[in-house]
Amino acid sequence: MKIAILGAGISGMALAQKLIQGGLDAADVTLFEASHRAGGLCASKTVDGYTYDETGGHILFSKNKPVMDWIIDEAGGRDAFTWNDRNTKIRFEDRWVHYPFENGIGDLPDEANFECVSGYVKAWHERKASGSEAPDDFANWIEWRFGPGICDHFMRPYNEKIWKRDLAEVTSGWVAGRVPDAPIEDVLRASIGIRTEGYTHQSKFAYPMNGGFQAITDGFALSLEENIRLSTPVTDVRQVGETWHVNGEQFDRVVNTVPMNLVPDFLEGMPADAASAMRELSNNQISCFLIALDREEHPDLSWVYLPHHNQGPANRITYMSNYSPNNAPTGKTSFLCEVTSPGGGAYPDGSLADEVVDGMAHAGLLAKDEVLFTDRTDTRWAYIVYDHPFEARKAAALEYAESIGLDLLGRFGRYDYHNSDQCVIEAEKMADALLSDAKRG
Ligand SMILES: Cc1cc2nc3c(=O)[nH]c(=O)nc-3n(C[C@H](O)[C@H](O)[C@H](O)COP(=O)(O)OP(=O)(O)OC[C@H]3O[C@@H](n4cnc5c(N)ncnc54)[C@H](O)[C@@H]3O)c2cc1C
Repeated sequence: MKIAILGAGISGMALAQKLIQGGLDAADVTLFEASHRAGGLCASKTVDGYTYDETGGHILFSKNKPVMDWIIDEAGGRDAFTWNDRNTKIRFEDRWVHYPFENGIGDLPDEANFECVSGYVKAWHERKASGSEAPDDFANWIEWRFGPGICDHFMRPYNEKIWKRDLAEVTSGWVAGRVPDAPIEDVLRASIGIRTEGYTHQSKFAYPMNGGFQAITDGFALSLEENIRLSTPVTDVRQVGETWHVNGEQFDRVVNTVPMNLVPDFLEGMPADAASAMRELSNNQISCFLIALDREEHPDLSWVYLPHHNQGPANRITYMSNYSPNNAPTGKTSFLCEVTSPGGGAYPDGSLADEVVDGMAHAGLLAKDEVLFTDRTDTRWAYIVYDHPFEARKAAALEYAESIGLDLLGRFGRYDYHNSDQCVIEAEKMADALLSDAKRG
């Protein structure tokens, strides 16, 4: 069975590896990749000895140990990684607030602490007393869930920075399992300064010793050199009888990992409603900034959230040189700063780097004379936006793909909000299904 995989990010490459390791002839697996390098969103860049992750701060962790072990083996083994304790904080004026916010409210100034805890208790009581359903828009959901104090001091400004739209346009469905659900006792404890942990599953993470997060996908690509066609965008996919043609070449099956919005550009004969369902799936972009610093040491932090507008346009800052000593030259340090924008391909203009640096200086994270240089990378697909039409559009897109036997996989190839480990988990499931189809003939 000849399989074409569209896109050589971690989803496409994990699928290829699993197919070959599962017994499919390597000559029957072809990956088409538009870029000159494999890895997709796992890309990293090195500028004058400073390495950063181009699409935003990436760490490797997984609740699934066999998958974590498999990724690490594919990427050079445990010694190729640093092992870090996660230490994340929220910057609030000149204070460090423990993350997640509701477990850190004891770190706030007294008045803000009081507003947060009293709002949380009232919201909790209101939910219990009325048995009210969770609101389906995110703006009302955060107020319903956390009360006005936490909403005003963190949740609303932070989420407005990330989503770049009125939060009423976003649904609350995506938060399940993503926004920690702190028991009220923990919030009361936190308010009076008793430390509680709200979020432990990424408490330790791995990061490549050399080459940034991309070293992981470079490891995957190494054994797929014969299979990956770099700089080969997919331009034409069509069904011909029982087979598929991709850029004119014949295959038995096609798995798409390219952002679904682009599929109607190359898939022959799509009905208009399915094509617009795919095209209109909503996403946010990201602009990432490396800030190279003339500073010897950082505080022991992994990343910090900047919820407030006077902290500049970045919503999150990664202490990039803390992840691996090789992410910056000896005796120097670096930051990676993330700024999102609405999808569509237009990015904020060139003064953004200055605004990021000014905001960080205002937040007390750097002095402007420490900055040696900055570097910027823009990425078109970064976050899925769960707006109200999302579920219906995705259902229509999946239904059409299924009806023609086109397999979909990946963060934007299927619009599943996955980290790289989850991409591998899904790739493994798809490989199993394809291998059993191949056996059946
Ligand atoms: C800000 C941010 C932070 C993240 N943090 C983490 C983290 O800490 N840990 C973690 O594990 N994951 C993290 N992720 C998620 C992770 O990056 C993704 O889940 C993963 O890289 C997605 O891989 P993919 O193969 O599904 O898609 P992609 O990487 O998008 O791969 C799709 C591929 O298709 C190619 N392509 C596009 N158009 C065409 C075409 N016409 N023809 C051929 N090829 C084409 C692209 O070049 C790309 O290589 C983060 C993501 C973001 C944006």
